[in-house]
Amino acid sequence: MQNSYPVSEVKSIINASGDIINHNSISVLLTDSRRITNPAASLFFALSDRRNGHEFIADAYASGVRNFVVKQQQAFMMPDANFLMVDNVLAALQKLAAHHRSQFNIPVIGVTGSNGKTIVKEWLYQLMCPDGNIVRNPKSYNSQIGVPLSVWQINETHTLGIFEAGISTYNEMDLLEAVIQPSIGVLTHMGTAHDEGFKSAEDKLAEKLKLFTNCSLLVHNYDVLVNVKTDLKTETRCFTWSRKFKQADLYVFSETVISGKYYLRAMYKDSEIECLIPFRNQAAVENAIVCWATMLAMDYSPADADERIERLTAVSMRLELKNGINDCSIIDDSYNSDIQSLEIALNFLSQQNQHQKKTLILSDIFQSGLSQQELYTQVAHLVKDKQVERFIGVGPSINEHKALFNVPKMHFYADTSALLRDMAKLHLRSETILIKGSRSFEFEKVSRALVQKAHETVLEINLNSLLGNLNFYRSKLNPGVKVMAMVKAFSYGSGTFELANMLQYNKVDYLAVAYTDEGIDLREGGITLPIVVLNPEPLAYDKLTAYKLEPEIYSFTLLDEFVKYAQEAEITNYPIHIKIDTGMHRLGFEDLEIETLCDLLEINKYVNVRSVFSHLVASDAEQHDLFTLKQIGIFDKACAQIEEALGYHFMRHISNTSGITRWPNAQYDMVRLGIGLYGVDAAVSPDEAGLKPIATLKTTVSQVKKLLANETVGYNRNGSLKNDGVIATVRIGYADGYLRAFGNGVGTMLVNGVLAPTVGNISMDMCMIDITEVPNIKEGDEVIVFNEQQRIEELARQIGTIPYEILTNISHRVKRVYFYE
Ligand SMILES: *Cc1c(COP(=O)(O)O)cnc(C)c1O
Repeated sequence: MQNSYPVSEVKSIINASGDIINHNSISVLLTDSRRITNPAASLFFALSDRRNGHEFIADAYASGVRNFVVKQQQAFMMPDANFLMVDNVLAALQKLAAHHRSQFNIPVIGVTGSNGKTIVKEWLYQLMCPDGNIVRNPKSYNSQIGVPLSVWQINETHTLGIFEAGISTYNEMDLLEAVIQPSIGVLTHMGTAHDEGFKSAEDKLAEKLKLFTNCSLLVHNYDVLVNVKTDLKTETRCFTWSRKFKQADLYVFSETVISGKYYLRAMYKDSEIECLIPFRNQAAVENAIVCWATMLAMDYSPADADERIERLTAVSMRLELKNGINDCSIIDDSYNSDIQSLEIALNFLSQQNQHQKKTLILSDIFQSGLSQQELYTQVAHLVKDKQVERFIGVGPSINEHKALFNVPKMHFYADTSALLRDMAKLHLRSETILIKGSRSFEFEKVSRALVQKAHETVLEINLNSLLGNLNFYRSKLNPGVKVMAMVKAFSYGSGTFELANMLQYNKVDYLAVAYTDEGIDLREGGITLPIVVLNPEPLAYDKLTAYKLEPEIYSFTLLDEFVKYAQEAEITNYPIHIKIDTGMHRLGFEDLEIETLCDLLEINKYVNVRSVFSHLVASDAEQHDLFTLKQIGIFDKACAQIEEALGYHFMRHISNTSGITRWPNAQYDMVRLGIGLYGVDAAVSPDEAGLKPIATLKTTVSQVKKLLANETVGYNRNGSLKNDGVIATVRIGYADGYLRAFGNGVGTMLVNGVLAPTVGNISMDMCMIDITEVPNIKEGDEVIVFNEQQRIEELARQIGTIPYEILTNISHRVKRVYFYE
């Protein structure tokens, strides 16, 4: 049931100019030239404003795309392609989606708020999917681009739409309202915090409410709008809920925990009703109440609502990349399965370069709204297109449609236990495996069988935030400036090829590592970008060149040995990078040595100077700005001298993270982006939009103990509580990188959102925290060492160090898990 519009019709819908050369039909809207599956029926929107749109158009054209929406006044030399020219490409995408939406007269729920949008959307889907065929945003595609792509999926088989909308500043919601055209509105949790993009919390609320301008029904928390003047139409019926105000339509007056579940009682239409929520944490409870109110507002009976809510399941929107057994990498997406999220997950699989072999384990897909034949035809097409080498299908429907698949290696199983019984015989080894299953198939068992056992302290790395940070800095660069991403020291403790892969896929220009071995690891993980080695060891020059790594040359000895090696190995023109010491006094050629250096390089056919660079000692610190200027001056002079001697062009670079924003005139040809990638930058306020910490270090409680005031805790009896209280022992110690300096109340951990100080000395593998103020903590509960709330900067402050040290201290025994939403 794919939509299809003649390209001429699209042209008139979006008011474009340009000639139609090919009378194609459009069914796929593309915004990323790397994700093309059906080129002939695709319409590519050249959205990129940051990077050169021409480049992506050429890529898409090369993949067979012949229909493009581009900005006016650009010339393209592609005679057999249609170019629809508009003033604003994003607006054209939205206009087309809005037109498509208006072709369908079905109820559409529009969801917005500051938190919980995706969960509420997914839960409403779970709750209402027995009653019809629902279309919704894939994952959290709720942006100015994600919403139109989501709405484009609507087809005539759908009976209900549920779309979430996310905004970050003014004048965005009207645009999304026009695309979603919701008839029912749902407002989720509204934080009172004043967000980056808005002057005040009131402004933020007012902007969000614009989604509901044309709704006939709005479900919201009574408390949030109680004293707020809104522009809602008088005919909009509001259904309110509250935990405080009796006058709400749904007044929740009692909340208790019964065997791990949350039991609510409420007044509704003058009678008492109840609801059991299978979650305990406060955010989940609030999201569930929002869903409960929505069901009642839509005339579900209280009994029906209660019965369905009790069966809600956790929503995981993220793909997790983990280390597997037998040198496999596992992409775990075992909780939901539909064709859109399958495509997203397969894209992620195909981005992975660490193993040649790529394997997909897939269960039957439910609720697609397509006929089985059509569904599995599409699945088979995707699987082939993404070059899956081994396909493992589980479930009766996939089995029935076996014949549609055409993959080098295929295995089919009737159910999950049959797969598990056969697992050893499959000899999964050195491959990247995507596990994707509908919930009822319980693929978490498959994941458990394939993932390496983790001790329960993990460092989670958010690859979306990594990308966000990269784009944040890209937006600060002068046109044409390249990016060298610093991934030395295990990517500042965050991982190796996993991050490098993401950076490569998103086209940074260079990577830099500290030692040759680190570079080799990246090459073996499939990284093909140019890589600079900052501390090349002469004994490893053979490996360095064999793996095409480019050395930093900082001294005559190093240059001499490299040239000798190159001579013997009959290597010429090998790319090197010359380091100038402009004031750090660590490594590099000094002012007076430049002339001799020039003499040596001039007559040298063995090396080719790819770049000349230096390092700023205090780019973030105002009190040293004069010194920074002096460094820049010395650097300019050295570069000019070398350029004159060599007679050819090389790149120049001096800026590290803080230099990028503070010294825009010193970006030269390239910047070296380090800690900013990981979300930390002393020169950028932590509230600045766009920069986010990428790492969360978490552990779990191994035991809870009641303690009397006079008892002592840990080695040497250093710790005690002032009053009687409760402590928890957690599974992290100095051997994991949680330094002893954090002991005795210096460090804090987040438990259920509350900061709990350490008690006593930190042990090697564990430590104790005071949880007297945190109710209901039990063994196995999660404890956060750092995340977006308690930031690495704060930990650094606690023990008087810098964030770099906190990050790189986390020991290798702490498992890294990468996720991508
Ligand atoms: C580590 C390093 C950087 C990156 O510094 P950040 O402050 O993390 O951005 C840049 N250049 C050199 C030479 C480095 O060693």
